[in-house]
Amino acid sequence: MTIKEKYDAIVVGAGPAGAMCAFKLAKAGKEVLLVERAKMPRNKVCTGMIAIDSIQIIEKEIGEFPKSLCVWPFNYKGFKYKMAKGAPVINMGIPEDEICYSVRRSEYDHWLTLEASKKGATVVDNCAFISIQEKTKDSVTVRLLQTRYNGEKRFVTVKTDYLIAADGMDSLLRKTLFPEREEITKCFCRQDYYLGDCDLDPEHYYYFRYNTAVEEPVWTFRKDDSIVIGYVAYPANVLEEKRAKILDYFVNTHGLSIGELQFSEVCCESTNFTVKKMKNGKLDFVFGCEDAPILFVGEAGEMMDSMSAGIAVAMESGCHAAEAIVAFGEKKEASLIDTYKEISKDMIDHITGTWQAFYNRFGRFF
Ligand SMILES: Cc1cc2nc3c(=O)[nH]c(=O)nc-3n(C[C@H](O)[C@H](O)[C@H](O)COP(=O)(O)OP(=O)(O)OC[C@H]3O[C@@H](n4cnc5c(N)ncnc54)[C@H](O)[C@@H]3O)c2cc1C
Repeated sequence: MTIKEKYDAIVVGAGPAGAMCAFKLAKAGKEVLLVERAKMPRNKVCTGMIAIDSIQIIEKEIGEFPKSLCVWPFNYKGFKYKMAKGAPVINMGIPEDEICYSVRRSEYDHWLTLEASKKGATVVDNCAFISIQEKTKDSVTVRLLQTRYNGEKRFVTVKTDYLIAADGMDSLLRKTLFPEREEITKCFCRQDYYLGDCDLDPEHYYYFRYNTAVEEPVWTFRKDDSIVIGYVAYPANVLEEKRAKILDYFVNTHGLSIGELQFSEVCCESTNFTVKKMKNGKLDFVFGCEDAPILFVGEAGEMMDSMSAGIAVAMESGCHAAEAIVAFGEKKEASLIDTYKEISKDMIDHITGTWQAFYNRFGRFF
């Protein structure tokens, strides 16, 4: 795919935040470049629950949710938490009249990206944002590293009127532009996919904050033909030892029987990070730059909620950034970042509320 020298907007990262933002901008007639570091479709640590909030955004912006994306158990029924030794299991059911689809994130994110492409966005995978070469109040010039189909690598310099940072929790753009913010990448989590079975209800997600294997939480759920075992993957040098202990725990307590490891995925863990921010009395978010047309969406902006609806927040913030860019382009009265903050106000109040409720209930366990 050839990359041009100039675009109306460049979106970095093709997760739900970036893909949705590119979709909306392209739909509004903007010339958009969406770059993704990984080869699509790519895996992402996630339970793959598409909750009602996500479904509503898709129905509003794109159309009917494509049921062909759903994999067994198709519809999750809720969450079960074991928070402390001797404490009863907390059952948080999803209301009976609500749907919570089960998808593989690789397929879901790929579908969203294809929808952006259908609307006219230029999507280039295997293409990483590397650095900002220049930023002014009207434009940004970035350096990208593209890996071609034949493995050849080349640097590309591209100018844009708007840059959208959608590069996830471990955002290079956030580290570049806000180096004073606390490093999130201190804590990683990992999910291992096995062919197998256990005696836990496949329609529930299980989180064992207390378990007899390791000090940190472990979790499990079903996805298609896999049983998924999740855990905090830090420090890396004891990973294999830890993995063996956790598997023993599930074998002994929940009748786990597994075959070969199919694959693993790793990402930064966000719950500990957010709870720590709350303990320090500052649950804040990154919206963008005051001195350049750069906006942050989804986890790059530290925007996620506590109720496993991070995908909805990511997509919603992507929509809001696109709306802010279109509104700002028409009027240029208020600043871009103030327009974005204003449009996002209800969403920010909502996610702050979910974290407050989570903190009140579970904060003491962290
Ligand atoms: C264990 C776990 C379970 C979860 N389960 C759920 C769930 O069931 N339902 C739910 O709604 N949410 C869930 N979430 C939250 C959800 O996964 C995130 O909130 C969501 O993925 C955030 O979307 P995003 O687009 O902001 O970032 P991401 O999905 O992380 O996408 C960022 C993209 O940017 C790309 N990128 C990174 N750096 C660069 C670069 N330099 N150049 C170009 N591209 C780059 C990455 O490769 C990636 O594709 C879960 C999270 C965790 C950790």
